[in-house]
Amino acid sequence: MITLQGISVSPGIANAQVFVIPDQEENTINTSSIAPSQIEQQWTDFLQAVEQVKNDIQTLNNPNNAEQCQIFESYSLMLNDTVFIDQIKKKHSSSLLHIENVVFTEYKTMADTLRLSGDDYLSQRADDICDVFGRVIAVLQGNKRFDFETIPQNCVIVAKNILPTDAFILDKKKPAALLLQEGSNRGHLAILTRNYGVPAVFGIGRLCSSIKNGMNVIVDAAQASVYIEPDEQTVEIYKDKMQSQQQYNSELASFIEKHAKTKDGTKFGIYANISTVEEAQTAADQGAAGIGLFRTEFLFISEDRLLSEDEQFEAYKKVLQIMQGKPVVIRTLDSGADKHTAADSITSADEKNPLLGLRAIRLCLSNVELFKIQLRALYRASVFGNLKIEFPLICCKEELDKALDIAKQVRAELKSQKIPFNANVPLGIMVETASAALSADFLAKYADFFSIGTNDLVQYSLGIDRDNPGVAPLFDEFNPSILRMISFVSESAKKAKIDLSVCGEMASSPEGIIILAGLGIRDFSMGAKNISKAKRLLSRFTLKELEKAAKDVQFFEQGSKIKENLRLLLPNNLYSR
Ligand code: PEP
Ligand code: MG
Repeated sequence: MITLQGISVSPGIANAQVFVIPDQEENTINTSSIAPSQIEQQWTDFLQAVEQVKNDIQTLNNPNNAEQCQIFESYSLMLNDTVFIDQIKKKHSSSLLHIENVVFTEYKTMADTLRLSGDDYLSQRADDICDVFGRVIAVLQGNKRFDFETIPQNCVIVAKNILPTDAFILDKKKPAALLLQEGSNRGHLAILTRNYGVPAVFGIGRLCSSIKNGMNVIVDAAQASVYIEPDEQTVEIYKDKMQSQQQYNSELASFIEKHAKTKDGTKFGIYANISTVEEAQTAADQGAAGIGLFRTEFLFISEDRLLSEDEQFEAYKKVLQIMQGKPVVIRTLDSGADKHTAADSITSADEKNPLLGLRAIRLCLSNVELFKIQLRALYRASVFGNLKIEFPLICCKEELDKALDIAKQVRAELKSQKIPFNANVPLGIMVETASAALSADFLAKYADFFSIGTNDLVQYSLGIDRDNPGVAPLFDEFNPSILRMISFVSESAKKAKIDLSVCGEMASSPEGIIILAGLGIRDFSMGAKNISKAKRLLSRFTLKELEKAAKDVQFFEQGSKIKENLRLLLPNNLYSR
């Protein structure tokens, strides 16, 4: 037996036979020159290849997978990008180089520029461009690609890498697992793998080539481990583990319809965080009490442009309708810093420290027109459900005052135009900076509700970049300063009798749920897939036990000790992430 380690991308255990996708040969690009008389024919061939790839993508797409639809739609947009296509045309006719060569050079240059930005999102875009235009070149060369249809059902697929447009096999071939020599945790392929619930380990490295066709492997994806030709003992151990995983999954499913409550009946609200309209359906299907955070900036990111009032209205209306009267918290644009949208270019800010710069509510207050368009869309949608609006990154009362005043102006405008809206939509704030947390007692007089964003609260309070793997071990949600702030926000909200929830990642960690519940928080918002796990966890404790847990750890001066002690309360397998 040989054991290999990689990066865990999508959890789950599998024991099956391997199918190796052969290394796709790098396209050998035709570097010859052409005669002017060949330009027209080559250009026609190129346009036909683009059309074929558009059709292929359409055929490969699964209309029931919202995430995939969105990714494939962005691929179609790239193929319809007239500016880029024109650029290729000009280069082709002026350089007299073979069309394959021109397409290859142009898309590589664009991808390299995006990768050099060092931005995760733009680097993913670079991969997408290479995927899509790589397909165009393959068509121009007569389609010498590996035929993915030949992959058998239910096997462990092993490959150097596969393209997101080939991810249809995850749906069609129902692989037991996917193992890649390369690949990252955050790219589109990783998202789709998690989406289809296929256990996956990427980044195995060169040793991945020691896995051959037909071999038997056990994949423990949560541990990122691969056992090649496992011995009998390992097979037995994993038989038991697979059985308990199945039991765990069916027990989780039984929580979908249940309300969240402790063993002794204290009720909790478990809400979903979403970034797209389609995710609202997943949230409803997973038994969410409502939407606790709709990150609207992702609507702008996926379109790569500003959305009109009507377009936004349709999106918000749809989410409210899907949730059928359950509360839906929609956050106004949190653009800038780590989440670039077309709204950023309006400010053309050249910032040295974008995380400390013109982002979120600051950006909206500096571009009132943009802010008003979103607020108008939100208020118009408010008649279709139970809407709450929240403002991100509020740091002081002045910002909240300005945001509330603009909302008031929008209501007055809609009223004078006789456009129906709900004038009583609650207006709340994200508490995600130390300044907001420590001002919670008086901000609570003006905000209708609080939602604690622990991701940014930790980032800004501890000075740790949440996206920098180099400092990731220092990102500590259990640091006593963070717990003190959360506790103060909770007391302030209680005194002012306003709603409070936590929507940062801490709210979906088992230790986080225990301490936050013990500190008096009753509403949590998280990725839809964690909702049943959170309900199951809460059902195992009495309120007294949770309160005692929060009290017992308050004397520790290190976050790691606090987390360690909370973890002791978690029996094995109570909540695997
Ligand atoms: C947070 O900061 O915790 C939060 C929920 O907002 P986002 O992750 O979108 O910044
Ligand atoms: Mg935030």
